[in-house]
Amino acid sequence: MSNRETNTDVILIGAGIMSATLGILLKELDPNCNIKVFEKLEGAGEESSNEWNNAGTGHAALCELNYTAEKPDGSIDISKAININEQFQVSMQFWSHLVKNKLIENPQEFIMPLPHMSLVEGDENVAFLKKRFEALSANPLFQGMEYSDDPSTLKEWIPLIMEGRSSSDPIAATKIDSGTDVNFGALTRMLFDRLKTENTDIRYRHSVEDLKRTEHGLWEVKVRNHEKNTLEYHTAKFVFVGGGGGSLHILQKSGIPEGKHIGGFPVSGIFMVCNNPDVIAQHHAKVYGKAKVGAPPMSVPHLDTRFIENKKSLLFGPFAGFTPKFLKTGSMMDLVTSVKPDNLLTMLSAGAKNMSLTNYLVRQVMLSKEQRMEELREFIPNAKSEDWDFVVAGQRVQVIKDTEAGGKGTLQFGTEVVSAEDGSIAALLGASPGASTAVQVMLEVLTKCFPDRIQEWEPKIKEMIPSYGLSLMENPALLNDIHTSTEETLQLSSKKPVYN
Ligand SMILES: Cc1cc2nc3c(=O)[nH]c(=O)nc-3n(C[C@H](O)[C@H](O)[C@H](O)COP(=O)(O)OP(=O)(O)OC[C@H]3O[C@@H](n4cnc5c(N)ncnc54)[C@H](O)[C@@H]3O)c2cc1C
Repeated sequence: MSNRETNTDVILIGAGIMSATLGILLKELDPNCNIKVFEKLEGAGEESSNEWNNAGTGHAALCELNYTAEKPDGSIDISKAININEQFQVSMQFWSHLVKNKLIENPQEFIMPLPHMSLVEGDENVAFLKKRFEALSANPLFQGMEYSDDPSTLKEWIPLIMEGRSSSDPIAATKIDSGTDVNFGALTRMLFDRLKTENTDIRYRHSVEDLKRTEHGLWEVKVRNHEKNTLEYHTAKFVFVGGGGGSLHILQKSGIPEGKHIGGFPVSGIFMVCNNPDVIAQHHAKVYGKAKVGAPPMSVPHLDTRFIENKKSLLFGPFAGFTPKFLKTGSMMDLVTSVKPDNLLTMLSAGAKNMSLTNYLVRQVMLSKEQRMEELREFIPNAKSEDWDFVVAGQRVQVIKDTEAGGKGTLQFGTEVVSAEDGSIAALLGASPGASTAVQVMLEVLTKCFPDRIQEWEPKIKEMIPSYGLSLMENPALLNDIHTSTEETLQLSSKKPVYN
């Protein structure tokens, strides 16, 4: 049995943080906009956006060493860090707007203040960290960053990490108190709850199986209703493919030329979770180390205090690995079925170029618990096996495409919006820096896909995001105002950790 349903303005595929953000932005800019959402799982934020499936770092480049590369002349390139920080400020302003206007409430349920730290050992790494600190701390975006290579100061900052450390190698860290832990799962659910109150038709347990252009220039989306095991057909003027790891397959089905010659490389993740409250209580920061040689940037180890399910937790990882699934709830056939005649060469080239990465990831999957404990002991020398369990994290599907710089089949580690020339469909691919930059990325979707409305929307966007179109680094007074107001609205300064 199949059903044909009426036309709508917008269809959002997938109920993760990206669709949630785009839906709310559209409702703020055009309250009469009709939106339908199709999500194959039972609720919102169940895949990568779920709090257990990602690391919850509010990525502002405060601690992630892979955002600041050392140039051949020895100086530090901070351009990527600046870009990511500016993008995070956009998210903070938008979330603050939502809280101030009571579109969502209780910010402590999705964002908590937490020091962000980078930690390194060895002469070369310490010298790098010092130079990085000097380059960043001179920039207004990174105000408040501290550096120390003094073991007694480090003991105050990170007692759990310093206790029992026997190595005589030099050690150093930077710390900045304006970091955050973000529960993207909670935020996604809040945003979908809000969308529901604004007449959005949200259908869970509905999978998008196909989509095609109608003769009237609309998109017809074929949806399987898992409750009734029926097929439905819905049409819309605009479709956003926010299927996370599932986006590539849907993009390929759309047949748009912009979606050709693109492939996906899935990277899985595992976190270690501490089950001992005494250990959890001894740590209060996100501490990022340096990626091991041969490891992809998304597998940089970090020891994170997290705020999940109303309590303080401690997670270590993620250990990257390889499975052919594109979603945690995906199929072992995902990788194979993503290979099409148009991307076959791209995929083969990527396969040849990334043999060592694939080997590394496969080896990572095989690690025993004790081997993983050894990696954890580089952070917590006294870590005991019985205090730690595993959770399987989300899948990150990295984009593979042909680029001028990297040639055929180049693996990308960023986020990419792929849209049709006429702006009628856009898909989000890639997973880094990820959820933290959702607002900036969705503004990019609006700019690409609604070019005739963006000017009319600009005053409202500026009301929600005062820095829209401006560089905060170049406007320190505005940056200060924004810091003060977002801190207050999101209750980041006065907030004491409420959980133990
Ligand atoms: C291990 C790990 C650590 C990470 N750490 C961080 C971090 O610290 N900070 C950060 O900012 N980001 C982080 N990320 C990235 C971040 O989680 C993602 O970028 C973000 O959650 C992606 O959101 P999304 O809405 O695109 O996808 P998702 O949250 O995956 O949502 C996509 C939804 O689409 C649904 N779907 C898929 N196909 C279909 C279909 N055919 N029909 C209907 N529904 C469909 C899925 O079921 C899912 O619910 C991390 C990711 C991982 C995996």
